[in-house]
Amino acid sequence: MTAIDTTPFIVSPGTRPHLEKRDPAESSAYDGDKKDGKELHLTMNARLEELQELLYAEGKQKLLIVLQAMDTGGKDSTIRHVFDGVNPQGVKVASFKKPTETELAHDYLWRAHRHTPARGEISIFNRSHYEDVLVVRVENLVPEEKWRRRYAQIRDFERMLAEEGVTIRKFFLHISKAEQRERMQSRLDEPHKRWKFSAGDLEVRKKWDAYQEAFEEMIAETSTEPAPWIVVPADRKWQRNLIVSQVLIETLEGLDMQYPDPEPGWESITIE
Ligand code: ATP
Ligand code: MG
Repeated sequence: MTAIDTTPFIVSPGTRPHLEKRDPAESSAYDGDKKDGKELHLTMNARLEELQELLYAEGKQKLLIVLQAMDTGGKDSTIRHVFDGVNPQGVKVASFKKPTETELAHDYLWRAHRHTPARGEISIFNRSHYEDVLVVRVENLVPEEKWRRRYAQIRDFERMLAEEGVTIRKFFLHISKAEQRERMQSRLDEPHKRWKFSAGDLEVRKKWDAYQEAFEEMIAETSTEPAPWIVVPADRKWQRNLIVSQVLIETLEGLDMQYPDPEPGWESITIE
């Protein structure tokens, strides 16, 4: 349907993403202009809507989408745009905030596991269990030997999910530090965006390099064949939306889904 090649953005298992060499503003995925890109995105929305309906109707497959990014990276906006028009029935969004006391009293995967998709469902993780090797690492919330073990634990967890029929796609929305400045400033300047700003965001911004290093290692350690990371150049929102949508369309098309067969005899029924 489209000419979007997503392969350069998929991180092969066992390799580093080299975030420092990836330009967050690059536009190699789609060479048309913004207007055409937005039009194309409308047709992709319609396709995703069809595929989600089929997933739901078939009721067999499960899709887990993980979104991670720096603050203002566009996680919320990606969800809004990519799933625009998709039937909310069968799609769940789980946002992972600072853990509650109850959550902290359990292992760190407990709260993630509860939100994984059931048959026929799509679960979208807005932040995820990966916070437990990101903010937890940068803020020294647990000792290094403990968070370091989590890479293998997460690989095992996701392999288990995949073996149990969950298809997993993980997106890192890669923005530049300059783009973050713009977006944070507009959160402060524009009254209707102010609710999105929190003073803590400035502290996190100061630790930009430490976070980039944490993302780099996290992606290298946990991009696997059943649960790959996709590094999405995300400074240009409309390009970002095209890439995420294309990956999801290809993924769902690859699942070989079918509408359920009618019961024998249904073809001869006429409703009076
Ligand atoms: P936006 O990106 O739109 O600002 P958000 O996802 O940042 O939305 P917030 O409520 O602003 O939502 O932030 C959630 C905070 O919770 C983040 O700072 C994140 O690092 C933190 N958090 C998430 N998981 C954990 C965790 N396991 N341990 C500690 N902090 C966590
Ligand atoms: Mg925030």
